[in-house]
Amino acid sequence: MSIHASVTVAVRRALDPIDQLLALDPGRRGIGCFFRPGAARAAAHALRRARRVLITTGFALGPGMPETDGPPGAAVLGRALRRLGARVRYVTDPVTVPPLEAALALLGETRAIEVFPDGDAEAAARGLLRRLAPTHVVAVERPGRARDGTYRSARGEPVDGWNRPLDTLFLVGARARTIGVGDGGNEIGMGVVPRRRLARAGIPARVASTVKTDHLVVAGVSNWGAYGIVAHLGLLARRDLLHGGEVERRLIRACVRAGAVDGITRRREPTVDGVPSDAHAGIVELMRAVRGPR
Ligand code: ZN
Ligand code: ZN
Repeated sequence: MSIHASVTVAVRRALDPIDQLLALDPGRRGIGCFFRPGAARAAAHALRRARRVLITTGFALGPGMPETDGPPGAAVLGRALRRLGARVRYVTDPVTVPPLEAALALLGETRAIEVFPDGDAEAAARGLLRRLAPTHVVAVERPGRARDGTYRSARGEPVDGWNRPLDTLFLVGARARTIGVGDGGNEIGMGVVPRRRLARAGIPARVASTVKTDHLVVAGVSNWGAYGIVAHLGLLARRDLLHGGEVERRLIRACVRAGAVDGITRRREPTVDGVPSDAHAGIVELMRAVRGPR
C-alpha cells in the first residue's frame, strides 16, 4: 500500500479533528504509514482515572544536546493529570533535567523529577517502579532500543552515549498501563507498529524501536501527540486542560534557554523538529478550536 493509499484509508475512517491535526506530517516522515487513528482518545481513556503516573521524556542527540521535542509535551500532560487528581513524577537523564524543569516551572508545576541512575538499568528500573508504584507509565519522545539493543537517531546514528536505558522501565514487566508517544519510529512504544509499515515510511529496521506499550500515539511532532491526549482528557472530564498558543511559544523558548536544541537543525533556536514556535502555537490553538468528537 502506498502512502497515498494509506492516507485514503485514514480519510475513509473519518479521523476525528484532533487526529487530523496529529496526522500532519511537517517533517515528511511518512506518518500516514503508521498513524494510529483513535489512539490519543484511547490513551486519554486509559489515563483519565490514573492515580500515580510516571512520565519519561528526553531525546539527546549529543553531549549537552537535549531536544526541544518531548519536555513541553511531558509537562503539559503531567499538569493535566495532576489536575485530574493523579500524583505525577518525571524521570529522565541529567541532560534533559534543565529543559524539563524549565517547562514545568513555566506551567507553575512542581519539579518532581527523578534522575535515572547510571549503572545497572534493570535494578534502577525495578527500584523506581517499586518505590513510586505507578499505575501508569508514559513516554513522550524517548529513545526505544532497536533490535541490536542500541538507540538511534532518525538519521541512524547511535545515541546510546547520551541517553540512559530508561526504556528498561517498559521492559521489566511493570504492573502499570503503559503509553508511548512518538513521531519517528525510534521511540518507546513504536515496537507495536508492524515493521513493514515503518519500512513503507522509509524508516530502516536498524533504527526502529522494539519497545512496546499498551497504547501508542503517533503524531507529526511528539509534543503534539501529548497535547492530543490532553485535549481528549479535557473532553472526557469537561475541563479546559490544554494550554494556549502563547504558553506554547513560551514553553519552547524556556526549553531553548535551558539548553535544548531543535532535533532536526540541531541548533539552539525556538523551533521543534524544524517547525517554528508560531506554527506550534497554531496547532495548539487549532486543537482548542476543534475539540474533537463530542
Ligand atoms: Zn522523535
Ligand atoms: Zn520529534
